[in-house]
Amino acid sequence: MSLNAKIPQGPLAEKWNKHKFDLKLVNPANKRKYDIIVVGTGLAGASAAASLAELGYNVKAFCFQDSPRRAHSIAAQGGINAAKNYQNDGDSVYRLFYDTIKGGDYRAREANVYRLAEVSVNIIDQCVAQGVPFAREYGGLLDNRSFGGAQVSRTFYARGQTGQQLLLGAYSALNRQIHKGKVKMYTRTEMLDVVVVDGQAKGIITRSLITGEIDTHSGHAVLLCTGGYGNVFYLSTNAAGSNVTAAWRAHKRGALFANPCYTQIHPTCIPVTGDHQSKLTLMSESLRNDGRVWAPKTVETAEKLRKAQLKASDIKEEDRDYFLERKYPSFGNLVPRDVASRNAKEMVDDNRGVGGSGIAVFLDFADAIKRLGKDAVAAKYGNLFDMYYQITDEDPYTQPMRIYPAVHYTMGGLWVDYNLSTNVPGLYALGECNFSDHGANRLGASALMQGLADGYFVIPYTLGDYLASIGPKPVDVNHPAFAKTKQDVVDYIAKLVALKGTKTVNEYHRELGLIMWEYCGMARTAEGLTKAKGLIQALRADFWKNAIVMGENEEVNASLERAGRVADFLELGELMVDDALMRNESCGGHFRLESQTPEGEALRDDEHFAFVGAWEFKGENQPETLHKEALDFEYVHLTQRNYK
Ligand SMILES: Cc1cc2nc3c(=O)[nH]c(=O)nc-3n(C[C@H](O)[C@H](O)[C@H](O)COP(=O)(O)OP(=O)(O)OC[C@H]3O[C@@H](n4cnc5c(N)ncnc54)[C@H](O)[C@@H]3O)c2cc1C
Repeated sequence: MSLNAKIPQGPLAEKWNKHKFDLKLVNPANKRKYDIIVVGTGLAGASAAASLAELGYNVKAFCFQDSPRRAHSIAAQGGINAAKNYQNDGDSVYRLFYDTIKGGDYRAREANVYRLAEVSVNIIDQCVAQGVPFAREYGGLLDNRSFGGAQVSRTFYARGQTGQQLLLGAYSALNRQIHKGKVKMYTRTEMLDVVVVDGQAKGIITRSLITGEIDTHSGHAVLLCTGGYGNVFYLSTNAAGSNVTAAWRAHKRGALFANPCYTQIHPTCIPVTGDHQSKLTLMSESLRNDGRVWAPKTVETAEKLRKAQLKASDIKEEDRDYFLERKYPSFGNLVPRDVASRNAKEMVDDNRGVGGSGIAVFLDFADAIKRLGKDAVAAKYGNLFDMYYQITDEDPYTQPMRIYPAVHYTMGGLWVDYNLSTNVPGLYALGECNFSDHGANRLGASALMQGLADGYFVIPYTLGDYLASIGPKPVDVNHPAFAKTKQDVVDYIAKLVALKGTKTVNEYHRELGLIMWEYCGMARTAEGLTKAKGLIQALRADFWKNAIVMGENEEVNASLERAGRVADFLELGELMVDDALMRNESCGGHFRLESQTPEGEALRDDEHFAFVGAWEFKGENQPETLHKEALDFEYVHLTQRNYK
């Protein structure tokens, strides 16, 4: 199989415009003859569903929550990037493109990333027009703050609730179309399979999470906007419900899964406190604008802090190691997430970690409070400080926050071409669900930008090209593929319901998470990954023998829902490990201990690994086949990333 990314010819800055002109159009009168299925109504899905309905297509949209407003996107705190250059501090489309390619450690497509930077400016206008209440500065212009990996301020925000406000905007646009009858919304409905007819996606199979009813839905195209798979690690900052099922089942029907091992570990999360937790909490990266990251200079001081014999505020300036500022004077506390995370781990490995567990470093606002005043700090970060206080019972205005890296985002996902089409015609992937634009490391505030770019500004153009090529003939729901796929789902659910062992699904999930974190987390080795593969295979085999699934299908059944999702994670986990083992280099969020510079930074191997690794499913318990999409860099010169 050869992977054609369908990148348009011509100069970088003209590719998207030229492509938009070259794409086929669907006559406005014909649009109402097409049915489009959109699975997922977070930022990517809601924006896509609303935009496509606005164009005149009939949209059926699905989510497993009781409202699109509860999508995981709502959790996004910090902001959304755009190259508006309101600050006049040297930003431009080209700089956003360059920072993103470099931030992703040169493992993303130039053409996609340039387009992302280009449409970023439209996203802000669109959202403002919808009434999204972005923060403003005194002159009335939208305010910006800085995020890691950039030396300009280009992050637009709405206090610490940017995702929520953006989602309310997209949700209003979606509701307008629901009201007009152009979108039919199916809530509490989980997609469990894709129907592929003669090689093209033509529908999905769903389960009602209220009644257990298994249904068939047909459409001329299927868009998966189902989010990321960070919960394969069990503990992550993702919403507890985030899962890989939709993407994984599509993978098993032929869609390639790209770069599964690229996981973003976010440096500023509230540390794990024990084995009672089911999720972790992010402290937004925006805090690194004013917070200073440090650890004690000596093991002795760290020990006293761990035993609570000293408080952080007792430690003199000369006894503190502001390690990011020391090692990376240009970017300081605003180095990209992968770099900040690895350095925090280094402190802990060096036995200089703090907090009861010793697995944390400090994020300190004392200087900012001295400089700006408590009120100004509270106005910027108040809700984040309150959240920290409520969770830890420690007051971040008087003592530094304790932070440690946690799994946060997955750069891998379904492989898509420039049109956001998977290799299965008619099947598209948008938002965090695809692998697209972040390479091996996502810069903060880029996920919201990508999800909304995909939904508002890319898919409305590219989907039309495919639809025009297949024509508006109704989908034949009597094709045997519909009945066969539905039966496969019914049988699979029956197999899950029949599991009446002794171990809960949650226990399997937690065990998988520990394996993934230990061997496929912040640092990976060939030896560890090989071990992890065996452990995951054994855990999966045990799951199908000894797991217990409570209740039946025909009812609200959280145990069954969870079992299906964990079963998929148990398969995905092995592929992540295979991918990490294959990629014998370090890049961005993928750090192989065997491949580092003398200073301990990620050492890429461009000669052998400047490609997207896309995996093809070959059958249950069979090794997957790797396909490589070479990454060509015409505009950006590949160098060792340097944030010093
Ligand atoms: C705590 C936190 C803070 C963040 N802050 C920022 C930030 O400040 N800036 C930034 O750029 N990024 C941020 N991110 C990342 C960003 O929020 C996400 O990447 C982004 O919101 C994902 O959007 P999405 O639309 O792709 O998916 P989601 O918002 O996860 O939506 C997925 C949708 O798919 C549906 N779904 C999933 N599976 C199925 C299925 N099988 N059947 C039916 N429906 C299904 C769900 O119901 C949901 O509607 C943050 C992430 C976290 C965890």
